Amino acid sequence: MPDKIQKTDAEWRALLTPEQYAVLRQHGTERAFTGQYVNTKTPGVYTCAACGLGLFSSDTKYNSQSGWPSFWDILEEGNVEVKTDLSHGMRRVEVLCGRCGSHLGHVFDDGPQDTTGLRYCINSLSLKLEPKSE
Ligand code: FE
Repeated sequence: MPDKIQKTDAEWRALLTPEQYAVLRQHGTERAFTGQYVNTKTPGVYTCAACGLGLFSSDTKYNSQSGWPSFWDILEEGNVEVKTDLSHGMRRVEVLCGRCGSHLGHVFDDGPQDTTGLRYCINSLSLKLEPKSE
């Protein structure tokens, strides 16, 4: 498990863009099909936009047609945490960064059946792609 990073609200505000802050720290959701990584196929590791921890690999990214970057697995156990989310009248499973606690998105059980069967539905604003160096 990665060591936790804790910052004050003011520190996060100073570090993130207003759009990133709204998603990562206020549990917001970017509008479908607007994020920069929806259709990205570049090989690499998707890291937390708030703290830089590696979260997802391009190897498990797939096109879910949902309008958000989707992955069927996480990069490493412990780097991602999940939590029950009862907001907006729904029962969902929230996905958070395992190091800084920032909101990433939600995980659903309608992922590809030939894999884990999971769909990690993640906001582009919560991610930063570190392309694989050749
Ligand atoms: Fe993080």
